[in-house]
Amino acid sequence: MFMSLGIVLLSATLNLNSHLPPLQPWQGASLSLLQQDGLLTTDFELSSGESSPNYEQTNAFMKRLVAANPTQFQSIKIGESDQGRDINMLLAVEDSQFSPAMMKNNNKPTLLIQAGIHAGEIDGKDAMFMLLRDIATGKRRDILSKVNILFIPILNVDGHERRSQFNRINQRGPLAMGFRTNAQNLNLNRDYTKLDTPEVRSVLKVINDFSPSLYVDVHVTDGADYQYDITYGFNPSFASDAPAIAKVLEEQFSPVINDKLTKQGHIPGSLVFVMNKRNLQQGLAGWVASPRFSNGWGDIKGLPTILVENHSLKPYKQRVLGTYVFIDGVIDALSKQHKALEKAIETERHFYPTELVVERGYSPKPDYISFKGIKYKQFDSALSGHQEVKYLGEAIEYDKLPIYWQKEIKMKVQVPHAFYIPPQYGAIVEKLSLHGIEVTKLLEPQDLKTLTQLKVTSHEFAKKPFEGRFRVSAEFEELQLKESPVTKGWYKVSTQQPYSELVTHLLHPAAPDSFFAWGDFLSIFQRTEYVENYALEPYARKMLKESPKLALAFDKRISEDSEFAKSDEQRLEWLYEKTPYYDQAYLKYPILMSYQRN
Ligand SMILES: [Zn+2]
Repeated sequence: MFMSLGIVLLSATLNLNSHLPPLQPWQGASLSLLQQDGLLTTDFELSSGESSPNYEQTNAFMKRLVAANPTQFQSIKIGESDQGRDINMLLAVEDSQFSPAMMKNNNKPTLLIQAGIHAGEIDGKDAMFMLLRDIATGKRRDILSKVNILFIPILNVDGHERRSQFNRINQRGPLAMGFRTNAQNLNLNRDYTKLDTPEVRSVLKVINDFSPSLYVDVHVTDGADYQYDITYGFNPSFASDAPAIAKVLEEQFSPVINDKLTKQGHIPGSLVFVMNKRNLQQGLAGWVASPRFSNGWGDIKGLPTILVENHSLKPYKQRVLGTYVFIDGVIDALSKQHKALEKAIETERHFYPTELVVERGYSPKPDYISFKGIKYKQFDSALSGHQEVKYLGEAIEYDKLPIYWQKEIKMKVQVPHAFYIPPQYGAIVEKLSLHGIEVTKLLEPQDLKTLTQLKVTSHEFAKKPFEGRFRVSAEFEELQLKESPVTKGWYKVSTQQPYSELVTHLLHPAAPDSFFAWGDFLSIFQRTEYVENYALEPYARKMLKESPKLALAFDKRISEDSEFAKSDEQRLEWLYEKTPYYDQAYLKYPILMSYQRN
């Protein structure tokens, strides 16, 4: 029994990728980065570029790196996963300046590179181990004279140890790879606003402590077949909340990175998503990341963030080498352009908008781009009963492929001058602090003349959970408060601060990645005090008698709304709502807004 199981698994390994589209042969100059033996040869290199080390082996290699170069490398624990694994980070700084303060003051930009947020997409870990090895052995002495490096080899450490050959059906290697989500089955790359996971919370702490100049999040994409092996992007300047930063990345970073990749035999491209997976020629989808994603969060926070998506159909070795060259290009660009980038960051830090786009949709009108595709044919599948696509492994150039950008404005909100949070929402305040947002605890009552409260007028809960939450969407009406309830112990969050846009997106309940939309305020939909009909009936009769205006409104509602007229429940509810006994907090968003400087 045991033997035959072994044979089955072996043949599965040999044929592991036979279901994937044919490959184009590749012999890039970056192959010369690999070493076969010698000091600090990585587990990836020892496996001829087929495998990636497990968690223990990864930690062991980190220790060897630090031991080989203790004056420049240090490994620290930045957090702990749900299953109790340490999340580690390697700091690489010339002249052993390890404290955050010294890192900020050594006049070099700091680059934060994160691998394995989706643990099966682990290219960044093995690429960075080679690059750090080359620093440690003196081959790349130049790098730390240009930048400080923060490197998280595996963010999703628990998912990383859910290792299998069968975790990603569309991906060519490594032989065993981790799983997408964490131990609680949460996708870390949807957690950047709600902050449910210890992993993303650790990253935000790192960003608060070290203030990196640039954040790189390394993934492997699924989707269509095409020639590009290394694709990457950020929200484009025309649909960005930090357009000054996006412009620097577009104009001063991308050319340097692309040049380096091209010279080393790789084909760099922009992030590729398609409108119709069965027919690429219908056009590309120009995705603009919302703040739940690392790069969308970076964009709204004004932290330059690049999302790397290596192409899953390219072999592991090629992808890892491409990632090495990509990071090398980023380091080059950052060392040359960090003044321009810092200036753009400063510009965005001082921009306090009066309105904010919180939701975008696809433009019906395409732009056109040239695109390095792979030929495909369509066929009728007896299995799906639908037309399916088969990629043929041959290059094809599209001169004019439509791309539909998410640049249509679907919703925007007015930005208040400040938000006021009641003291019972300390958990929200803690999350805001993790986001790097300044919150002031009020020490005395505030006589605020203009306060707005939003009341839910209609709402809908999601039919099924998403990321462990039941999301809610709602419409609101504005109520102007006559008296200010804001007193000692409340929190004030001004929008006249560096992360103004992020403050608004998190706290304005109409924004799709706000705490409200993620279900942090579900208790306002709950009524906990009730009325007995025998008490309401005489009370309401008296109330109508005393207020002819109210009586008229009641009669009008009955004559105009037959459903209301027929429903005893609705009629009594309407009356109950008009009594002073009614729960005044029901359906009211508890965070108040002030649109004027009070
Ligand atoms: Zn991913």
